[in-house]
Amino acid sequence: MEKYNYLIVGAGLFGSIFAYEANKRGKKCLVIDKRNHVGGNIYTEKIEEINIHKYGAHIFHTNNKKVWDYINQFVEFNRFTNSPIANYKGELFNLPFNMNTFNKLWGG
Ligand SMILES: Cc1cc2nc3c(=O)[nH]c(=O)nc-3n(C[C@H](O)[C@H](O)[C@H](O)COP(=O)(O)OP(=O)(O)OC[C@H]3O[C@@H](n4cnc5c(N)ncnc54)[C@H](O)[C@@H]3O)c2cc1C
Repeated sequence: MEKYNYLIVGAGLFGSIFAYEANKRGKKCLVIDKRNHVGGNIYTEKIEEINIHKYGAHIFHTNNKKVWDYINQFVEFNRFTNSPIANYKGELFNLPFNMNTFNKLWGG
């Protein structure tokens, strides 16, 4: 029977990074997850060539260069501007509120 140093329950960010770092230090890890994929809540599914955030949208941001350099060894990031809109009674409004929102609400 195979011997492991660690049994890691959950292949999300924490479990995956823990396993990766432990493995680099010569430890053998068994990672299990009740879902049929890795990545936990940040998992994306490719549907018609578009990456869909299965458990809700995720945006990564940090001002820590060490963190940024570390995470970039695993993936390539897209530039992203968060510009949410709200649908209120069939009308679309900018969020967070800005002058555009007030202009739409009360006219300019
Ligand atoms: C809708 C949403 C939006 C978010 N947006 C952002 C964002 O924009 N930016 C950001 O930085 N963070 C965001 N977060 C937070 C981010 O998702 C979490 O901080 C991060 O995913 C936590 O990683 P984790 O490994 O701790 O847990 P998870 O990603 O939750 O992974 C845990 C894993 O363990 C598995 N598991 C749990 N219990 C068991 C069990 N008993 N047996 C087997 N497997 C088990 C689960 O299936 C899961 O895959 C968001 C979260 C949600 C829900």
